[in-house]
Amino acid sequence: MATGLYIHIPFCLRKCGYCDFYSVLPEPGMISRYIRALLTELSLAAELQPGSLETIYFGGGTPSLLAPEQVAEILQVAGTCFKINQNVEITLEANPGTFDYQKVQGYREAGVNRISIGAQSFAPDLLQILGRSHTVQHIFQAVEYCRRAGFDNLNLDLIYGIPGQDEQALEDTLCQAVQLEVDHISAYLLQLAPETPMGRQVSCRQVEMLPEDMELDQYTRIINRLTRAGYHQYEISNFARMGKECRHNLLYWQGGEYLGLGAGAVGYLNGSRIKNYGDVTAYMTALEAGQLPLREELELVTGQDLWQERIIMGLRLTRGINFSRFQEQYGIDILSEFADVLKVCTDTGLMEISGEQMRLTRRGFFLSNEVFCRFLA
Ligand code: SF4
Repeated sequence: MATGLYIHIPFCLRKCGYCDFYSVLPEPGMISRYIRALLTELSLAAELQPGSLETIYFGGGTPSLLAPEQVAEILQVAGTCFKINQNVEITLEANPGTFDYQKVQGYREAGVNRISIGAQSFAPDLLQILGRSHTVQHIFQAVEYCRRAGFDNLNLDLIYGIPGQDEQALEDTLCQAVQLEVDHISAYLLQLAPETPMGRQVSCRQVEMLPEDMELDQYTRIINRLTRAGYHQYEISNFARMGKECRHNLLYWQGGEYLGLGAGAVGYLNGSRIKNYGDVTAYMTALEAGQLPLREELELVTGQDLWQERIIMGLRLTRGINFSRFQEQYGIDILSEFADVLKVCTDTGLMEISGEQMRLTRRGFFLSNEVFCRFLA
């Protein structure tokens, strides 16, 4: 039974140079039309009878392009369609420069209780390289507006491994983020798809990515700096004050079920992964005709696919995987089934095993794709 609800808002005012997510520049009236379609999808999805919702997540795109009244209406309709846990976590992703105090206060009144701010960096030149539309000043304002509106659960997204990002630039960004005393920090390594503007610049050598050893050094610095500042790392890229871990993302990593609504949204329900077709116009047209949007993918996740996915998701978490519990749940004895993989990964310092638990080391987190491929081979 789904305990999470993901709502995708696929609109951005400008495309960042590194981004390969689907998003469009909203034409006049398009966001209102999209919200009407979303409300129809919500009512139709209610028939799937999910369990009581523990988390709701507005992701994008740029959800902070929505007016507070639009967020309030979505949450109000969700409340009539589904049972919502009293203690629900409701996150909204917000880009600095797209909201002011009144707007964020409106989100709070609508029921949002967690804001995830796409800061990415505190270095003006690096924001420019990334093609972000906001300034450093906008980040400070964003945090101040949220705190003044009473939000006590704030995340900052940061990016490392940016071309031109030296040790000092990273240190400054971490220092500013820590001084803002946010509750949660996500730090992602810049990874470029070849078809993005930055990816093309790298292909034709106009821009040079940082060498891998420097990226690993940055990752280590991030962990050390944030740990010293009182954040605990609970996932490859995520750090939180105690009790402020993102419950919605934990649901993904722990194999929980969730509904995904909106153009291009992905859900996982009754053992199936469902992806709505990404095109915004096709999405709205289908729902205006009273039909569920076209599904791009509908895949039943069972057997080997299921337990391989559970290994990969479990290893993303710092606590790792407990062998006995895994065997009880999926019938797989990891110790004997993957004896060779475990030996290679422990011998090369990518993984450690203590008692019943296996977990990735720092180096293993940084090279996690290498480890995951071994479990999938
Ligand atoms: S704001 Fe986010 S979703 Fe929009 S283009 Fe930039 S990175 Fe992509």
